[in-house]
Amino acid sequence: MPAGGCGCTVDGKLPEWAPQDGGQGFASKVLDGVQGGHDGIASYTEGTSRYQTGRKYARPKLNVSDYVKGVRGGDRVTLGQAITLMESNAPKHVEKAQEVLKTLLPHTGNSIRIGITGVPGAGKSTFIEAFGCHLIERGHKVAVLAVDPTSSKSGGSILGDKTRMELLSRDERCFIRPSPAGGTLGGVARKTRETMLVCEAAGFDVILVETVGVGQSETTVRSMVDFFLLLMIAGAGDELQGIKKGIMELADALLINKADGDNKIRAQMARNEYERAIHYLQPATEGWTTHAYTCSSLRKRGMDEIWNVIRKFREVTGESGVFERHRREQAVKWVHSMVNEHLLSMFFKHPEIVRSLPEVEADVAGGKLPAVSAVQKLLDLFNSC
Ligand code: GDP
Repeated sequence: MPAGGCGCTVDGKLPEWAPQDGGQGFASKVLDGVQGGHDGIASYTEGTSRYQTGRKYARPKLNVSDYVKGVRGGDRVTLGQAITLMESNAPKHVEKAQEVLKTLLPHTGNSIRIGITGVPGAGKSTFIEAFGCHLIERGHKVAVLAVDPTSSKSGGSILGDKTRMELLSRDERCFIRPSPAGGTLGGVARKTRETMLVCEAAGFDVILVETVGVGQSETTVRSMVDFFLLLMIAGAGDELQGIKKGIMELADALLINKADGDNKIRAQMARNEYERAIHYLQPATEGWTTHAYTCSSLRKRGMDEIWNVIRKFREVTGESGVFERHRREQAVKWVHSMVNEHLLSMFFKHPEIVRSLPEVEADVAGGKLPAVSAVQKLLDLFNSC
């Protein structure tokens, strides 16, 4: 091969493991390093209105209208950048993100928002792969998001590993975004909620929000979706039943997964049992009766049935007005929960509270100060500053 024939420059050096007298027989060459970020793209220098010099390519800094145009035009790169902007906690980004969101707001809402929960191992990722593929084959555009408040602790997120969603993650009609990392559950949920709106503005008409079946995250996800699906498995230990009961009350459908092979009969029996159990629960959504179904995500069976259930749900709640009413109530509740978060954070970060809290806590723990007086003392301190 002639020098440079592999696309390398003739000045390229051979890698250090290659015999230096090996001639041009090696396809690999070491090129001089590029300046800038890991990808060689120059970074924007704040306050200079320009990109750092000496670099070939510059990633343009987007303004509000660039974001809006890109998202509305279905440009995936801009969509990703817009979501990164929504996820940023930097004050200058928050302001811009809110501008983008305000402009996009009239184009949001045209989707069905589906929450999916289930204990680890229930088959959520496998189900989303099968269900998502089923939907895109029917002409839908699917966004897969996640609320996983543990992702910052474990260093990964439930959707971080896309290998179980191999087909889906490669499809242009699907957009997968892992859980935002870091912060409180409320903070993580805020970011996911805004991401959901951006995806809707980009034309995604089915939004799947995945969460793990532990902790408070189900209640949070329930409050941001239209339809809540609980994925279950037959014969899980009794220790799980407690968790399930609370979550079962939130579900618009129970889906017993892994109804295949030797497990098929057990799954059907579990379905019958759950069907009896939910009969005694309050319906999660007014005017809708929750039922239990079976599916096999691995064999891609039962996808049509559950999609028909969701479509029926949309129809019934749409006709009764419950669908729109829920969305309005969710938006208002969201404001309340953000105010709560904000005030709580302001309170506990206040220097006077930070200074006095350990002493007040010690007094309460030592029986010197009643809890109510302690609260009053802290609130007086906060109000006086
Ligand atoms: P997640 O933790 O809830 O996301 O669960 P995964 O999707 O990672 O699935 C956990 C395990 O169950 C994997 O080994 C899957 O292959 C398996 N699994 C998922 N769905 C099915 C199914 O429908 N049938 C069978 N037999 N196995 C399944």
